[in-house]
Amino acid sequence: MKRIAVITSGGDAPGMNACIRAIVLTASQHDIEVIGFRHGFRGIVEDLNQPLHPNDMRLVSQRGGTILLSSRYPQFKEVDAARQAAAVLDQHDISALVVIGGDGSFRGAHHLDQYWDGQVLGLPGTIDNDLAGTDTTIGFTTAVDTAMEAIDRIRETAEAMARVFLIEVMGRHAGFIGLHSAIAGSAEAMLVPELEPQPKLADLADSIRRARQAFPDSSYLIVVSENLWPGGVEELARQLTQATGTTCHSAPLGHIQRGGRPNAADRILSMQLGQAAVHAVLDGISGHMIGVEQGHVVRVPLHLTFERDKQLDSRLVDLQLGLQQLNFASNVV
Ligand code: ADP
Repeated sequence: MKRIAVITSGGDAPGMNACIRAIVLTASQHDIEVIGFRHGFRGIVEDLNQPLHPNDMRLVSQRGGTILLSSRYPQFKEVDAARQAAAVLDQHDISALVVIGGDGSFRGAHHLDQYWDGQVLGLPGTIDNDLAGTDTTIGFTTAVDTAMEAIDRIRETAEAMARVFLIEVMGRHAGFIGLHSAIAGSAEAMLVPELEPQPKLADLADSIRRARQAFPDSSYLIVVSENLWPGGVEELARQLTQATGTTCHSAPLGHIQRGGRPNAADRILSMQLGQAAVHAVLDGISGHMIGVEQGHVVRVPLHLTFERDKQLDSRLVDLQLGLQQLNFASNVV
């Protein structure tokens, strides 16, 4: 009889619990036992195992975070750590490991695959959506919803007080949350790492100045991806304040984007992928991520998910930039 192990690793993402539920329930349908290891790869190395029964899965899908807990464990890059993890998995008679996480976790899964005979599968769990080979990742749309709601709230006060705000959103080094939340939040401008060329400070200042002249009683919101501007959004706000003579406020949204109840789309995606992971185990697949492309479940070699860059949807980039232009055009009328 097969036994499956599950970990959640790296940054937690809303939907990870729904994914665990689908794995446990689907596995039980096939008489497969599932155990979890707490705190990601560290939990395997230190044998922090935890049984996962179908009965325990009743109230987990609704919750954000991860019932299996997560961690960052850089030591897992070492060969000895992978060997130790392999030994622990063998002691528990595990035949397959499912890693729910982002690109770092998939590097870890790929690393373990070299030193362990069992099947290793990855499920894309990251709010950043920065994994190639899948249209979307577990937690991404919930994070966008959260960012949009925060932007809406800032919009109300910014509009009431006719203020300029720079809102920093997460994404690590990718602009998916930035782009999607900028569109959804009707931002006047957007700074995401993928823009070529990157808008210059002088251009941003110029746009703000013109908007203030045309509509002195209106708000002006710029969505900025984290890790983009040297010194962060606070420093950008300081520089723009100096350049425009208008106080520009900074609002880093931070970790609120990681938490919260998963939205319906993330729960459905998570359960679809969780079920598909068990099917992949039954099919003898190893070294692959289970993702989704145009509604269909796909199996993608793990290394391709982090070696290739994932592009923003250029139609959505054009949509935001086009609407910004129109916004700008109406400002100068
Ligand atoms: P995420 O999975 O959200 O991208 P991290 O980049 O922090 O998060 O990676 C999660 C964990 O995956 C790390 O803490 C580490 O345990 C493991 N990991 C990351 N990169 C590697 C690597 N190159 N080799 C082995 N393990 C890795």
